[in-house]
Amino acid sequence: MKKYIVRCLLCGETHDPYSLNCRNGDDALLRAEYSARTLQPADLPGIWRYKEWLPVRGIIEKGSGRTVTYKSEALSSQLGLEDLWIAFNGYWPQRDAMMMTCTFKDLESFPTMQRLREMDDTRIMVVASAGNTARAFSHVCSITGQPLLLIVPQESAHRLWTTHSDTSAVCLATVEGDYFDAISLAGRIASREGFVDEGGAKNIARRDGMGTVMLDAVLTAGSLPDHYFQAVGSGTGGISAWEAAIRLIGDGRFGSKLPRLHLAQSLPCAPLYSLMYGKDAVAPACPGGMYDDVLFNRKPPYAIKGGVKDAIGSTGGAIYAVSNEEAAYSQSLFEKEEGIDINPAAAVAVAALVQAVRKGSVQPEDRIVLNITGGGQKRLMQDSPVRLIGPSVRVSAKDPCAEDMIITTVQNRFGVKI
Ligand SMILES: *Cc1c(COP(=O)(O)O)cnc(C)c1O
Repeated sequence: MKKYIVRCLLCGETHDPYSLNCRNGDDALLRAEYSARTLQPADLPGIWRYKEWLPVRGIIEKGSGRTVTYKSEALSSQLGLEDLWIAFNGYWPQRDAMMMTCTFKDLESFPTMQRLREMDDTRIMVVASAGNTARAFSHVCSITGQPLLLIVPQESAHRLWTTHSDTSAVCLATVEGDYFDAISLAGRIASREGFVDEGGAKNIARRDGMGTVMLDAVLTAGSLPDHYFQAVGSGTGGISAWEAAIRLIGDGRFGSKLPRLHLAQSLPCAPLYSLMYGKDAVAPACPGGMYDDVLFNRKPPYAIKGGVKDAIGSTGGAIYAVSNEEAAYSQSLFEKEEGIDINPAAAVAVAALVQAVRKGSVQPEDRIVLNITGGGQKRLMQDSPVRLIGPSVRVSAKDPCAEDMIITTVQNRFGVKI
């Protein structure tokens, strides 16, 4: 029996397990259906504990961390809650949290690169990112040696720190221009022969990797929560949490009600909030002015089948818009009460929880999972030396030769002909 099959949520046909899109041209997500109905955690390191519900055959032994879930006491009592669980993604050795890039993007990068290995695919992975995704992919590729082309806006290059001394698998191109310029350049390069696109929300390895946050929270707390809080840009993590909850209901041991998704966006750039409620919450200067611009995404997978709209609709969820003041307040509240630094993006989720408590959208006795999507970066930097990955090439988005310059650099760096 196959470990899993991949099915289009619109036409219902099964697809090649590595497809990103429906062959019938449907603009719908494909979803993995695992033959194991009940989840047995494996005695494997990091995220591979949930290998049964990941679309991989083998694992990458080294360097993978996983979510660590624990029951909050201090923040919980500050908010008047009785059953608040923190799903922590990051570095916090005292709690055995060892995600060395300090965000949950590691949960996407490891299964994605493992699948590429299983396909014997020697193409070069192309990732465009404002920072955290790039850091996560450079981490895994520095372990496996798979070649990686990162295209990052120059202003985000400070997020590309690493704990590795050897990052020769990474070719970093910084772009003078904004995030869109980086994305469009990456798109053009990824469509060329010899390169492969990571696929974003359409990639089941990314979604099921992020879905392990929900798996970890539910196995630790013992049942599905009533509510799930997360800060989102694309909303892929929210979709993933919903899909994981559907599988956990199928397992039969954890309850039968889907957790309500509470997805938080940062003002003044909250496109998902705008789409959901028809209010204009996207300033012209976006991503300028955000509490954390990793939460910006111009084209989130909102209306497609299986996307954010469906996830919110079928769970009775909501989208929040959080101001910078609320995020800053919530960040210091969390750090003071729980005793660990968090990523600014994660503070946006804490702020949504604060809003929900104020509005009475959650009850004191409700079981709540708060996804801290990134944390412990300050702690890590006290404990281990990190360094910035230097660019292999700098280009300007306006330069018509930018693409060719990057290709030449890739050829030289990896000794390949493209
Ligand atoms: C990417 C990111 C998010 C948002 O993720 P989605 O893809 O929108 O689910 C939240 N927090 C951190 C720290 C991130 O890096």
